[in-house]
Amino acid sequence: MVGKRRVVIIDPGPLIHEHLDAVALAVEEAEVVSLLLTHAHGDHAAGAGPLAARLGLEVMGPGGTRDVEEGTVFETDVGELIALSMPGHSEEHYCYGLGAADAVFVGDLLLGEGDTTWVGEYPGGVADYLTSLDRLEALDPRVIYPGHGPPLTEPVDAIRRFRRHRQSRIDQVRNVISAKADASIDEVLGAVYPDLPDSLHAAARRSIEVILDHLSHRR
Ligand SMILES: [Zn+2]
Repeated sequence: MVGKRRVVIIDPGPLIHEHLDAVALAVEEAEVVSLLLTHAHGDHAAGAGPLAARLGLEVMGPGGTRDVEEGTVFETDVGELIALSMPGHSEEHYCYGLGAADAVFVGDLLLGEGDTTWVGEYPGGVADYLTSLDRLEALDPRVIYPGHGPPLTEPVDAIRRFRRHRQSRIDQVRNVISAKADASIDEVLGAVYPDLPDSLHAAARRSIEVILDHLSHRR
């Protein structure tokens, strides 16, 4: 939540009634409330519809009932919050920048821990993801609030860490297919992720597919 009297709720999260009760209580005294989504994944968005119904609001942003656009401004009593189109984790993904605090709420573009997040399995997803990281770095925020985990107080380091990880995966895949141009997806998968547990196989396979798609457009 950003602000107190004029407040924006970003990504109310999954449909957990106790959690939505707490959010509703926290905005009880507010004069203006807006409800925004960074993207439509259930762990960010599933609680939005029920919360909106309860508070008499519209859900704005990807997966909501009203679109946001690049540059859409939301007033809060701690400054303007501006919608920034940052696709990659999903095809439609927004971050929200609070200029006054040099802060960006990044949804799942970065996580608060580690060096990797899911990159969308749609054509162009990897290129979008890298472009969004570049854009976020150019904003030079003082702090990043991810949808999961603690705030990132060394934003540039974090952005570079996530970019390095993604780039190293891309390089690994490129190396496999430069050694063997007709390598199957399973061969690439075996080379990039040796000892992968079965439970992660399908997700890893999709992530290889989007990287192969990315490389095929850059050859
Ligand atoms: Zn997500």
